[in-house]
Amino acid sequence: MDETLYSAETNEQYLQFAGYDYDKKNIENLSKMKYLVSEMFVRSFSEPRILLLSSIENISDAITKPFELKLHELRGSKIKNRDFKYGGKQVSWNTWRQFNSAEIDHKKRKIVFDDFVKKTKYIAPVINSRFKKIRKIYSDFSDKVDENHKGLTSPLDGYLISEKITLSKLKKLVSDMGSRATTRFRSELNFGTELIGKEPEYYDDFYFFRNRIFQSMEKYFTKINPVVSVRRTLGSIGFDFSNIHFDTDDRPNKYPSPICFFVKIPDDIRVLYKSESPYFNLSSCYHETGHAIHASSIDQDLNYWEKYKFPMGIAEIFSILIESLTRNPLYLKDIGITNDKVLSDLIWRNKFMELFFVVFYAANSLMKMEYWNRNLSIYEASRLYEKLIRKYMGLEVPGEYWMLHHILPEAIMYVPSYMIAAIRAAELETYLSNKFSDKWWNEPSAGEKLREIMARGERINLEEFSKLDQNIFMKEICSS
Ligand SMILES: [Zn+2]
Repeated sequence: MDETLYSAETNEQYLQFAGYDYDKKNIENLSKMKYLVSEMFVRSFSEPRILLLSSIENISDAITKPFELKLHELRGSKIKNRDFKYGGKQVSWNTWRQFNSAEIDHKKRKIVFDDFVKKTKYIAPVINSRFKKIRKIYSDFSDKVDENHKGLTSPLDGYLISEKITLSKLKKLVSDMGSRATTRFRSELNFGTELIGKEPEYYDDFYFFRNRIFQSMEKYFTKINPVVSVRRTLGSIGFDFSNIHFDTDDRPNKYPSPICFFVKIPDDIRVLYKSESPYFNLSSCYHETGHAIHASSIDQDLNYWEKYKFPMGIAEIFSILIESLTRNPLYLKDIGITNDKVLSDLIWRNKFMELFFVVFYAANSLMKMEYWNRNLSIYEASRLYEKLIRKYMGLEVPGEYWMLHHILPEAIMYVPSYMIAAIRAAELETYLSNKFSDKWWNEPSAGEKLREIMARGERINLEEFSKLDQNIFMKEICSS
């Protein structure tokens, strides 16, 4: 039942993101049914544990839905600047990144940043109430989950159980990565003027950098069609695309960046894509296709939870692996980018963004871990965030900024999973290079191996290629 509901719900979400008519009433009904099924499951079963945890998550999602919707609404209505416009309307949280990407006058960006930071006072109470409620729901189910009967002390425990990692290990991993990246990051930041045309300051955030620093390279990628290119590469090593549907049409209400939906694993996987800026789209299209081939390669005879309930730290391995092709000079040469200056610039800029990713995500992850673990208030969380950003990024950013992030004020954890997956993706890439070829994307036997790894779904044998050793990844991004 859970799978049927999940499929129906994902289908509606797909229609919504694709810019088609979708049934709002149906979405509400499905979410109610999902809640009932989860409640029933939690009352009657305690095994399998993954399903128990996902049921608690469903219950928590459903109960806190009104807060989530309120947060979305306030972001559009209250986080808004009266002085500047984007697309004919006052800049709001929703158009902030586009405004930052297009605005040439840095002073205007600074004003909007400062204004939005002040206006977090409108969303702080909702974030606080929602997280408090989530904490309460998890503590109500606490005795059910922990096999040692210590109970769940916070929603963070649920996350750690599904990622199969302990808090102390995760903390150490994340803070070690942050410390290793920080010196290099700060010295590269000195070349900021070359990257973004100005001295980097506190309001030049990760997303601003990500948009700006590839702008001069875009023209070299206009002739590459990402969908054609990624299908050709992966098709040549045996990936079957018959269960993956790419929607490349441009509809006005279609979601701007590429996104993948697992409507039914492994038979119905859908990728939405519309062309915008060439290089960014190339990498994000490869990323989403990585998700798609993973889901379509999962063995259909596995149990429901083994097919669907793998954590982000596993899901993102394959998307990051396929995306990394778009940063690999050997691969880029294969698809026709032959200008050496462009290739070396691209590598440098990508490495810088990966360093930025590590220092920024280290601060994000550590703040969220402490938030749950030490039961911080929103004010305390902001002060801690300020401190962590200073420590890892070397910038004085107002701590309230975390509430303006798209993930931090919404997800229980989520952010460190990207770091875990980045480590594993680098290990997998090394494994494939050593076992097959530096150009493993040309080797059908490498494709076969990948499918064998992916086929196991949640039962993936990570030991085959990963020790969760950060060295490969960190050496790669800290090398010159
Ligand atoms: Zn992803």
